[in-house]
Amino acid sequence: MPHKKIAMQHDKKIALVAHDNKKQDLLEWAKFNHKLLAHHQIFATGTTGKMLERELGLKVVKLKSGPLGGDQQIGAKIVENKIDFLIFFWDPLEPQPHDPDVKALLRMAIVWNIPIANNRASADFMISSPLMDSEYDRLVPDYDNYVSRKINLEQEPE
Ligand code: PGA
Repeated sequence: MPHKKIAMQHDKKIALVAHDNKKQDLLEWAKFNHKLLAHHQIFATGTTGKMLERELGLKVVKLKSGPLGGDQQIGAKIVENKIDFLIFFWDPLEPQPHDPDVKALLRMAIVWNIPIANNRASADFMISSPLMDSEYDRLVPDYDNYVSRKINLEQEPE
């Protein structure tokens, strides 16, 4: 499949999300990487964002709380190329009321080839990559063929 390039700027638009049992983890990670995060633009689901602002003084664009649509808002921003990086510490041991939204968000990240980290070790490797502080052309499959595919409509009998 051919690809298109989507440019990621030097300053990235990063979404941070953590389920309740993982918020402490995310907070510690963000505290440790405070300096590296400073020049990027941070988005977060509501409660995660409030916590990051309060505890770290980070400037955060806060969306709705995850279970109230925040995950879907992040997914929509990925589609619109308004977010280019996702750090999402989801909880593997606790059922979530918005499980379908979580799955949908992760799916959008794959569809648009967004870098995602779902645990601290991955987030550590990502944030310390030299690519974080440079421009980067993300290769996204060219979906034009899919969009212009032929749909067989049933013919009305004459
Ligand atoms: P929250 O949402 O930051 O509002 O707690 C996180 C989530 O469950 O997606």
